[in-house]
Amino acid sequence: MSKFVEFTFRAQPGYSEPAARELLTGSIPVRTIAIHCFDPRAAGIPKAVADYFGDEVYPGDLILNEDGQMVGATATVFPLVIGGGRAADALRSITVSQYLFGLERVVVVHHSFCGASSFSEEGIVDSWKREQHRDISSLYDWDGIRIADFEQSLNYDVSLIRNNPGTPKHLEIYGLFYNIDSGELTEVVRDVPAKAAP
Ligand SMILES: [Zn+2]
Repeated sequence: MSKFVEFTFRAQPGYSEPAARELLTGSIPVRTIAIHCFDPRAAGIPKAVADYFGDEVYPGDLILNEDGQMVGATATVFPLVIGGGRAADALRSITVSQYLFGLERVVVVHHSFCGASSFSEEGIVDSWKREQHRDISSLYDWDGIRIADFEQSLNYDVSLIRNNPGTPKHLEIYGLFYNIDSGELTEVVRDVPAKAAP
């Protein structure tokens, strides 16, 4: 055991996994994940998503206990920051977030003049051969990485999330385009499951 183990939930007195899950669900009110690019010009996206849906909070406040320890937050939007905002790297976080917090909505946002729209599969694969002496042609699904067209990339990512068994069935999934200069969001894809009859 390292000296850091005391900072885990598991090492706390009386720990049980169901109780830890209940504690996290109760103290972290997140319901929406906003997947977006790590480009600093895209940093306004989580706030724009909160405003777009209207009933969401971002960035919100941190909640401290009487000892001044951070024990929660009021944000209902959690940003998931990934190169290109592509969903292929987000699937695991969606599964774990559903388990720990419970989710209602995932929003994939791709932004104007994203670096992911600047390169081709051939370009990156050829450069890797020359510069790294490795063949990565079959390493990734390139349609899930580079962006040739935003309607295509957003549709691809919404389908990728929907068809993953680790995605909860009730999840609402949106694909939005973000103009970095105007800050405007445009809805391109909406995949909202019909509510089950009561
Ligand atoms: Zn980008």
